[in-house]
Amino acid sequence: MSAVPPPGVERDYPLARLTTVRTGGPADWFARPAEAGSLVEILGWAEAEGIAVGMVGSGSNLLVADAGFHGIAIKLDGELASIEHEGETLRCGGGARLPSAAAKAAGWGLSGLEFGINIPGTAGGAVRMNANAYGGQLARVLEWVDVATAAGIDRRGPENLGFSYRRSNLGDGEVVARASFHLSPGDPDEIRATLASMRGRRREAQPAGIKTFGSTFKNPDDPRAEGRSAGQLLEAAGCRGLRVGGARFSEKHANFVENDRGATTADVLALMAEGRRRVHQRFGVELEPEVQVLGAAAPPGGSEL
Ligand SMILES: Cc1cc2nc3c(=O)[nH]c(=O)nc-3n(C[C@H](O)[C@H](O)[C@H](O)COP(=O)(O)OP(=O)(O)OC[C@H]3O[C@@H](n4cnc5c(N)ncnc54)[C@H](O)[C@@H]3O)c2cc1C
Repeated sequence: MSAVPPPGVERDYPLARLTTVRTGGPADWFARPAEAGSLVEILGWAEAEGIAVGMVGSGSNLLVADAGFHGIAIKLDGELASIEHEGETLRCGGGARLPSAAAKAAGWGLSGLEFGINIPGTAGGAVRMNANAYGGQLARVLEWVDVATAAGIDRRGPENLGFSYRRSNLGDGEVVARASFHLSPGDPDEIRATLASMRGRRREAQPAGIKTFGSTFKNPDDPRAEGRSAGQLLEAAGCRGLRVGGARFSEKHANFVENDRGATTADVLALMAEGRRRVHQRFGVELEPEVQVLGAAAPPGGSEL
């Protein structure tokens, strides 16, 4: 390694605790930039040194390889995780937590981001993943994002983000530094009541207080699925409660993997492979992973970062 890294860049940083499933090894390099200038500087350094970049938001859809990530993991902080409003516009740093943004928007009498209350990720992770819940469309309220790369910042509208089901066209090294949402005025009490009812619906449908990354596989559009969700197919294929090592498919929601007994990422991947194999054998449907992998570990049916 030739050039000295920018200030604040650390070595050998454990990543498991930055993910909701709590598995995986360290990153070779780690940084927590708090403003756009230092983010761009870090991206420029990584590019010049040929170091891979991996973003970590809330780690709520992220599986880190047990051998870790041989690159720089970046988590946004400070100004890049702030939540502000001006009139009907909500501006978030890419590292701002979506449930906090939804709750703050409600307090400011702004409606449109309610679906974010149940998505335990960041604004940046939500844009990259085109996150959605209960029919709330991110693209409907998203005005623009500032995307940081080694070359600087460029502003993109939702029409230029290539949104499709749980997908955007953002590549590695393209970081959502800020996002602006155009919301509608509403009554704070009514918006808060909607948030409370959404939380209640979620509590009934999904396990709470567990180490998981949410939906493991995307819902298939294969006609052989006959409209069933990934969870329904996994359940019908006998995967509810199925275990490999410290990981199992949840008893409450078969498309959720739980790390309930000190699982490794290898356990999770082996469990995913077995669930996928069973669904394919029973229904002929190839499930595609929703969870993103950081490091050299290929999820079954997907590709590593
Ligand atoms: C209990 C639970 C419930 C969930 N429910 C839902 C749901 O209802 N709907 C839904 O869509 N998802 C759901 N998820 C999944 C997850 O919360 C979303 O995919 C979320 O958008 C991920 O955001 P994150 O910040 O945690 O991203 P991470 O998991 O940290 O990363 C996910 C991907 O985004 C990239 N990324 C992160 N930050 C940035 C950034 N600033 N710029 C560019 N790329 C970035 C990462 O590199 C990675 O490729 C759930 C997860 C859990 C654990």
